[in-house]
Order: sequence, then structure tokens, then C-alpha cells
Amino acid sequence: MFWTLVGRPSQTDKGLGDKGMAQPRRLLARLREVMARSVVGLAELPRLIAAELVSEVCSIYVLVAGDLLQLAATVGLQEAAVGQTRLRVGEGIVGLVAATGAALNLPDAQNHPAFAYRSETGEEPYTSMLAVPVLRAGKTRGVLAVQNRVPRLYTEEEVEELETVAMLLAELLPAVAEAAAPEEGAGGALSRRFSGTSLAPGLAVGPLTRRGALAAPERLLAEDSAAELRRLEEAGAKMRRRLDRLLADRLPEEGATREVLEAYRLVASDSGWFARLAAGVQSGLTAEAAVHRVTAEVRRRMRRLADPYLRERLADLDDLALRLLEALGAGGLPERVPNGAILLARRLGPAELIDWHARGISGVIVEEATPHGHVAILARSLGLPAVGALEGGGAEGIGQSAGDGEWVVLDADEGRVILRPEEDVAESYRQALAARSSEQETLGAWRARPAATADGTRLRLMLNIGLPHEIGQLEATGAAGVGLFRTEIAMMALGAVPDATDQAALYARLMDAAGEREIVFRTLDLGGDKLLPGVLRGAEGNPAMGWRSLRVGLDRPAVLRRQLRALALAARGRPLSVMFPMVATVEEFVAARALLETEARRVAGPPGRLAIGTMLEVPALLWQLPGLLAAADFVSIGTNDLMQFLFAADRTAPALAGRYDILSPPVLDLMESLAAKAEAAGVALSVCGDAAGEPLAAITLAALGITTLSMSAASLLPLKALLARIDLAAFRPVLAGIRSAASGGASLRGPIGAWVGEHGGPD
Ligand code: PEP
Ligand code: MG
Repeated sequence: MFWTLVGRPSQTDKGLGDKGMAQPRRLLARLREVMARSVVGLAELPRLIAAELVSEVCSIYVLVAGDLLQLAATVGLQEAAVGQTRLRVGEGIVGLVAATGAALNLPDAQNHPAFAYRSETGEEPYTSMLAVPVLRAGKTRGVLAVQNRVPRLYTEEEVEELETVAMLLAELLPAVAEAAAPEEGAGGALSRRFSGTSLAPGLAVGPLTRRGALAAPERLLAEDSAAELRRLEEAGAKMRRRLDRLLADRLPEEGATREVLEAYRLVASDSGWFARLAAGVQSGLTAEAAVHRVTAEVRRRMRRLADPYLRERLADLDDLALRLLEALGAGGLPERVPNGAILLARRLGPAELIDWHARGISGVIVEEATPHGHVAILARSLGLPAVGALEGGGAEGIGQSAGDGEWVVLDADEGRVILRPEEDVAESYRQALAARSSEQETLGAWRARPAATADGTRLRLMLNIGLPHEIGQLEATGAAGVGLFRTEIAMMALGAVPDATDQAALYARLMDAAGEREIVFRTLDLGGDKLLPGVLRGAEGNPAMGWRSLRVGLDRPAVLRRQLRALALAARGRPLSVMFPMVATVEEFVAARALLETEARRVAGPPGRLAIGTMLEVPALLWQLPGLLAAADFVSIGTNDLMQFLFAADRTAPALAGRYDILSPPVLDLMESLAAKAEAAGVALSVCGDAAGEPLAAITLAALGITTLSMSAASLLPLKALLARIDLAAFRPVLAGIRSAASGGASLRGPIGAWVGEHGGPD
């Protein structure tokens, strides 16, 4: 039946074609693409920028020879002026912008007192001008300008957009100057995102394994066709026997999965296919070559079919061809795949999916699959996260971009695939996965119980999250709120920083889901080991201590302001808590606070209550505590960074892992004194570094007076259960004794662990 249908050409081919690449909507997305290429195309940028801002002219001036601004690229001005037109810093509007470091938005630029006419540029027809400085590490590197014929004041959004572009340009200019290729992201090639359709829900993080093409035949022509036909028949019988065994084990009584497998079995037992193969062998081909030829021929015809049922059979056909080749001794599925691997296939048949599942894959990406297709039905019944119908990731599809063994995040809840994820993104997904584990379910009873120690000390246990769908963990864990929402992780998972409206929608969704519970939004903490493709990819010798995080936010406020506005918009009369990362001076905090307050005032329906806090990660703040505690509404200790800066120990260096301990006299002294000072000042103090979720550290912090602890969702319920067994009043003098007996900076983990082991075990 199937084979007769395959021969019939379809009436309509509509809907079969390539879905087409989603056009990046925003200029930034396009710029990132340009910057992600190995050769930086400065000349391409003005055209892109001018098109986005609907301006007739866009020009880039680069600082050369100390104080000369040279026209380096333009669209709209005379091409011949490039490399020729030069203005001194302070000369003309461009020079003035470079000198002051401030944007100029001029409806009538030519009548501005600073205007300097340069005949070779041909700029007479253009009346209005917007020029912004290109700053890097606080220094002017150039000027970016757009011009229009009609007199106009550029909108605030346009100014912001141009400032944002200037920020990207700042990263580009040194690379242009040195004619160097931009640095690749962590792990070599850049991370890429693909969006698709969720076929079966769930998350997976693992190495990619590809379901390759059919193994090419070694021989095309058979010497003895009759013997070859016998070989084919034997292999066919073997294949059917194996299939029967496989399906017998899996065939449920009824339901969609049964229908899928029966439809597949029907194709497998259809004599038409075998007749075609036999005809190929009789024409002189080897059995393997006949499999290839018939598969290719049917594929060609079926590609034109609109009928989804028949297109689904194409995957069945590939599956069968692979099995038959295997029975012929050519290729087949690998014996072993890396544990937890994520399978990437163009198409996948149902029996094949069962086989791969048995080999231990943790998820599947099928380029040509739909939610109602067979692979989707089967993946759901196997509980295997699956995504299909992918697009995005630049010009290349995932099939061309991905290599065997490369790491992949499969977010089948959101229909997203992240190839070569940044370590922080992968880690966030691992934590989200851990929080969903069955072990967590067994602790479910603790969800509704109060967080308190055996002697009645109440704690506030909160969550650290960064992926929007992790907000569901508030319910699952009964956490008091989100103590740290790492907004950069959400942006990195998306691969971009969306505009204010889209960001506001995201934050509002989170607040809706949290209800009365607080969410502490941390502003973008990009840089160091957290990079967005194309953004902030400067080649810094020491990126963790470089131009990152709030430093960027204050030097180039456009992106930060956009985020703060989005947060204020999202709150709409509700309380809003915002925290700034990598604060090193009280002045930085005060400046950031002022930006937030300004944005909050500007939105209609400002936040009901604004709590503005700081991370404590940079040791210099420890000597500014009176000022800091007076200026901040709350302080959250980021032990991950604080430890790395206190001990000068790179948090990402495996050789240093565990060398310095939070449970050591200097850090415990510090925590104790911070708790006392914050309490005296009436400022809420918490810990949101990883130590907060680590049992011994959490108990010790609680004993020292820090009872608000924010941690990953997987840590929360086990910690709550443990804390309930701890008599903190009894532990305090023990801890004091351990500390007074210690000398130097060595770890006190041994004696603390011994006490907790003895007194914190289940009754
Ligand atoms: C920290 O530094 O402790 C912290 C919570 O921030 P992150 O881990 O995101 O740097
Ligand atoms: Mg940090």
C-alpha cells in the first residue's frame, strides 16, 4: 500500500519547503553576527546601522595617532573621504563628542557652533546629526554618527540604540586596529542557539552524538547476482527477526505508541520495498548498493509529498535501510554511545529511537520531525526530551554546525537547543535537572514544612535561578523566594539581550509566578567567564577582574538602563528587588542606584516598594561598610567571587579547587563580623554564593547569624531536612571551641563535619 502511494506525485508542495531563516529583528543581532565572523567587517557596519536607524548617513571615526579622529567607514558620505577626513579631538561635532564623551543629538547640526565643514565628505545635504562616543575602559576610541536630510531630533530609543552599537564597536576597534581576528568564546568555537518545536518535554545536557548517513557501499556491482539475491533475502529475514524481537518487547496493549509501531511494522513487511531491492540486485547491483539506490529514489519522490503521514514514512524507510545494511554486515548503530549523549538526526524511525534509547541517550534532536509525528509520540512515551524542526544559529543549520562529542543543552520545554553552551549556562541547566530528580521527589514532604533548626531558629531559604522555567522550583521546593535571579543566564540562554518590552514581559511572568514571594533580580553580570556571543569579547589578560558586569553597566549605561526600565515596567506597582553585581566602591553602588531610581520614576505605575541591594564580592567593600550599609537596602554575599578575590584563587582553576575553604578562620571571622555589622545597621544580609547550599557551610553561617541563604533548587530540600536535625544552640559553643583552637588559615571542615555527622544524622 505504502509503495504504491509513494509513486503518486503530490498536488501541492506548499508547506514542504524550507521554513526559511528567522530574520534577526534587531540590529544588535546582526552586528553580533558580523562580529562573530573571523574577519571583522568594519566597512559593513555603517550600512547595517543606517538601515536600522533609517538614516541616510552613518559614519565611524576612529582615534588614530593620539588625538586624530579619522573617518574609517561610511555609508552616505563620499567613499573617497574614508581614510582622508580627519578631525582633532575637540574639533567639529565629532571632535566635541570625542572630547566630552557625551552624545550630541542635533536637529540642525550645520548651525551648531562647533560644526566644522569638510568639503571632501559631501555632507552638505544632511541637516540632523546624532553622534555618540565610542568608549573603551573609560577612554574615547572613536565616534559613531548618523545623519539625515530632514531636521529631526532622534528619539531616546535611537540614542540608546546607537550607544549600544557604540559599545559593541568599542570591542571591535582594537581588533580592527590590530587587524586581528576576534577571540573565540570559551572552548574554541562559539556557542550557537537553535529554536525549534518541543516534541517531548524535559531537559538534557550532554555530548552530541550524530546519527550518521547510511554507510556508503564498498562494492557497487555484484559478481554473481543470484548469490547476491540470496544474500539480500537472508539479510531481510534476519532484519525482520530482529525487528520482531525488538517490537515484541515494546509493543503496548493499545494507544498511540502501539499505532506508531504497527504502522512501522506494516512498512517493514511491505513486499513492495523488497521487490524494488530485489530488482536492483537483479540489475547487477550489490545488495548494499541496491539499498542505497532504492532509498535515494524513494526519498527523492517523497520529498515532494505534502501528506505528513507519507513524509513520516520517510523516517521509517531510513530506519529500515539502516537495519537492512546492518543485517548485511555494513554499518548499523554504534555498540556504545557516551552515557547521557544527545542524539542528533535528520530523521529518525521509531525502531531506531528505541534502539538509541536502550543505548542510554538522554535526549534527541530530530531536524525533520513534528510534534504529532511518530518520533515525538515515541519520545514522549519513553520520557525522552526531544526537539524538532530547528532553525536559527546563523546561516548553517545544526547539522552543519555541530560536531560529534560537542556539548549540547537540550531544553525541550522551551524547544531550544544550545550548541557548545557557555559553562555557566550548562551549569544552570545541570542544576535545573538535578532539581527535578527523583531524589528530590522523595523529599517532597519537606516542601511545606518551615525552614528551622531543631532548637527553633528560623531560616529564610531561597533559590538561585537563571533560567525562567526554573521559577516552578518555588512551588516544588517551598522556597521563601528567589534570592538571586541571574539575569545574564536568561539572556545567555536566549543568545541576546532583548529590548525593554520583551525583557519586561519575561520579568513580569516570573513575578506573576512568584506571587507574594520576593525575587531578587541581579542586573547583568556579563564578562569574565560569562560571555554573550559578540558582546564584551575583549581580549583581557585577567577577565574575572576586568571590565565586566556593573563596570560595563556604568561606563555604557544604555544596556543597563534598558534592563532597569524593563524591571520597573514589569513590577507595575508591585514590590521590586534589584541587586547589583561586582560593586567595588560605594560610589559605584550609589550611581547604579540612581540609575534604577530614575528609571523607576519614569515608568507609568512605578514599583510599589523598591529594595536596592548589592552583592558583596569584591573585598574592597569590606573597608567601606559604614557607607555601604547606609546606602544599600540589603547586601548579599557572593562567596564564589568573594573567595576567589580574598584568596587570589581563580574559581575556575581545577588545580585550586578545594584549596581554600570558606570554613577557615579568616572567612568565619569575616562572616561573623559582617553579620553583626549588618544587624546593627538594620540591613538584611544573606549569602547567595554556592556555600549557602552546602550543608556544613550553611549550618556554620546560620550559627554565625546569617540565616537568609540562597541556593540552587537541588540543595534546598536536603538542607531543610538536615537543618531540622541540628541544634544550633548546642553547635555554637562547639564552633567557638573549634575556632579558638585553630591557628592560621587552614580548613576547619574536619571538626565541624565530625560534630554535624554525629549530631545531624537521622534519628
Ligand atoms: C558569587 O559570586 O558568589 C555569585 C553568587 O555570583 P556568580 O556565581 O554568578 O558570580
Ligand atoms: Mg559573582
